[in-house]
Amino acid sequence: MLPGEFSLLPGHFCGILLLMKSLNKPINVRRPEMMEKVQAEVAQYRSNLVESIIASGNVYHHGKLQISLAADFGFCDGVKRAIEIAYATCHMFRGKRIWLIGEIIHNPEVNARLDAMGLLHLPWNLSDERYTQLTAEDVVIMPAFGVSVQMREFLDAKGVQLVDSTCGNVVKVWHRVRNYARRGITSIIHGKVRHEESIATASHSRGDDGNGNFIVIFSEDDARCVADYIAGKGNKAEFLSRFKLSVSPGFDPDVHLQEVGVANQTTMLKDETARIQQIIRAAVVQRDGTDERCHLFDTICGATQDRQNALYDLLEKSLDAMFIVGGYNSSNTTHLAHIASLQLPTFFIKSADCLMDAQRIKCFDLATKSEQIVALPTSLAHPAMPCHIGITAGASCPDNVIEQVITRLISLRDE
Ligand code: SF4
Repeated sequence: MLPGEFSLLPGHFCGILLLMKSLNKPINVRRPEMMEKVQAEVAQYRSNLVESIIASGNVYHHGKLQISLAADFGFCDGVKRAIEIAYATCHMFRGKRIWLIGEIIHNPEVNARLDAMGLLHLPWNLSDERYTQLTAEDVVIMPAFGVSVQMREFLDAKGVQLVDSTCGNVVKVWHRVRNYARRGITSIIHGKVRHEESIATASHSRGDDGNGNFIVIFSEDDARCVADYIAGKGNKAEFLSRFKLSVSPGFDPDVHLQEVGVANQTTMLKDETARIQQIIRAAVVQRDGTDERCHLFDTICGATQDRQNALYDLLEKSLDAMFIVGGYNSSNTTHLAHIASLQLPTFFIKSADCLMDAQRIKCFDLATKSEQIVALPTSLAHPAMPCHIGITAGASCPDNVIEQVITRLISLRDE
């Protein structure tokens, strides 16, 4: 086992190195000469069809089939930047071993194309033997979600040439939780405990001196449990058992829930985050008579909010079905699928290939977390019948994939 091992296995927060030492500066690959080379490659993710639909007010007609695109969908600036960085790195360090930690973003199409350029992969577990092979000659790209303090320090100690594609919105959350730690405030992180971004944020919430504390909560139910404890209604043993995999080492709810600050993974559901904030705030007010020891800061990124808002607007229309396009492990895309599924038949697909024929589709089921084959709306298969389909896509889904879905829908309609 390597010193300061990091893993996604239970207990992964234990042993995180806590101090952000002065680290080597990552290499800037977004140089003009590199960006020039990259432009042609990232152009493959564009779509003339999608751009023309946007120019026509986001609506496309094919006979009695109407397709409405959300006003905001697909690639966000953070994802575009991360992809450009990955391509630029391949150009700048041609001939060297270039490693990527996990996935640059959560989209299978983009990741497959990058793999084809020869990128090598490092898993999130520092005990993997590939980490022992790293030398100062290797190049390592940190993904858009960032990496934990511990992993960053480990890579620095190895002396590898680091390229950083961490999104600025993620870094803002890190600043927020580090600030909480400096003031002795415990971070309550609304996020998925095993998501790369939440793991990195939790590591930063330990602060400059490594003594900061955190608890990661996922649901409103988790928030109510924390709120009950704050309000004096909790059982300590039960509390620690429930959250044993999602708190900082030595977490004592009697001590560490005295003053709290809420932050969230940037891609969470904005309404849920707002409700969770209010649940925690109400508990602090109930205990203290004031919210002075409750600090709220919405760290959902603008791109996530815009895509959720645009979906709510699209759902106001009279749609027969909604298609959500993106990677199944993409947090922001999953939330779009969840929002739509509460209102109408929703098909969460990763690519056009999921549309098997005019009757059947292979799509991701949020409940079972697996692909299922289900029936398409009957109106889609009958050109004489009106059919109105809504489409949106997560922040990591390229336009060319959306175009393929639209083209496939049209061809099925014509079969
Ligand atoms: S979804 Fe938000 S946090 Fe994630 S890469 Fe895009 S802009 Fe950055």
